[in-house]
Amino acid sequence: MKEILVVAEHRRGEMREITWEMISKARQLAREVAGEVQVALLGKGVGRFAEELKSKADKVLLVEDDRLDHFTSEAYQKVLSGLLTEKRPFLTLMGHTGFGMDLAPSLAASLGMPLATDCIGLDVEGESFSLTRQLYAGKINAKVSFQKPGPYLITIRPGAFSVSSEDVVAGQVTPVSSPLTDEELSKRFIQYVEAAAGEVDITQADLLVSVGRGIKDPENLPLMKKLAEALGGALSCSRPVVDKKWLPKACQVGTSGKTVKPKIYIALGISGAFQHMAGMKGAGTIIAVNKDPKAPIFGFAHYGIVGDLFKIVPALKEKVEQLRKK
Ligand SMILES: Cc1cc2nc3c(=O)[nH]c(=O)nc-3n(C[C@H](O)[C@H](O)[C@H](O)COP(=O)(O)OP(=O)(O)OC[C@H]3O[C@@H](n4cnc5c(N)ncnc54)[C@H](O)[C@@H]3O)c2cc1C
Repeated sequence: MKEILVVAEHRRGEMREITWEMISKARQLAREVAGEVQVALLGKGVGRFAEELKSKADKVLLVEDDRLDHFTSEAYQKVLSGLLTEKRPFLTLMGHTGFGMDLAPSLAASLGMPLATDCIGLDVEGESFSLTRQLYAGKINAKVSFQKPGPYLITIRPGAFSVSSEDVVAGQVTPVSSPLTDEELSKRFIQYVEAAAGEVDITQADLLVSVGRGIKDPENLPLMKKLAEALGGALSCSRPVVDKKWLPKACQVGTSGKTVKPKIYIALGISGAFQHMAGMKGAGTIIAVNKDPKAPIFGFAHYGIVGDLFKIVPALKEKVEQLRKK
């Protein structure tokens, strides 16, 4: 039996989307290798997550400890080193997030495990895997493979895989005792620092109104923002908008910005350069407004409007507001 272990990531009482994305991918791989999906869930008072996770994973390895109330790579590494040494899953998946970037390299090094980071593609290839990683800020997709035999550790880029609602299983929760003791851990959690007021986490938004250089002037931003608000979404942008300091970096979508996967992505005055598309092509529905019928974005968009955004956006905003009043 080949076990695939997903390390669950949760923060401030919420399971992170990357966990479900990894589990869906793990289920697909498990079908191919006739394996089993396990989830390592570490924390304090996280039993309710275990109940949720067992509908998607064959086994939830639950490690509860007061010292795991907040993530620190040191405490997590101690627990996971023990788990991975004992269970020896064939493959361990972690998010390529702040959490995984902090934890995966030292965990892999301490266990002598081959590690591949920031993967956007992952396929079974014989006894190993073929991985896709991006190079040169997304200009090249490189297929790489491990030279050494497993077990392997891989970090997955958020948004790279979609969540499947179909794979429902009747898994079980297995409590695992924590190896942590009261010995002094050198890292300790101090506080969460919230994003500056007004900054929205665009990776969590269901609807994004995304603006590009085509909006021409920062004076036009309030109109775009009003459209986003009328639709109950958030504002994001392409890189030139950040370079010009019209919006903060946290709003940038793309290879050097964030990967987003909203249900709806409305691109206004964005040409569709591959560095931008790489960050949003996983959106459920892409709607593009561009005055150039040959703009590359129309090659990706599900719906396209060829026209002047300064005519289209006010009309759209008015229509949405009318509908909301009804
Ligand atoms: C290493 C590297 C990393 C990069 N990372 C990123 C990244 O993370 N994210 C990113 O976005 N880019 C990134 N870029 C830049 C990327 O290559 C493009 O330059 C950028 O995405 C273009 O932004 P844009 O579409 O807003 O602007 P443009 O390409 O200038 O497009 C503007 C569009 O607006 C349209 N338009 C103009 N006026 C109107 C109007 N009135 N009505 C409707 N449409 C109109 C035009 O037809 C045009 O298609 C990166 C580049 C490099 C080299």
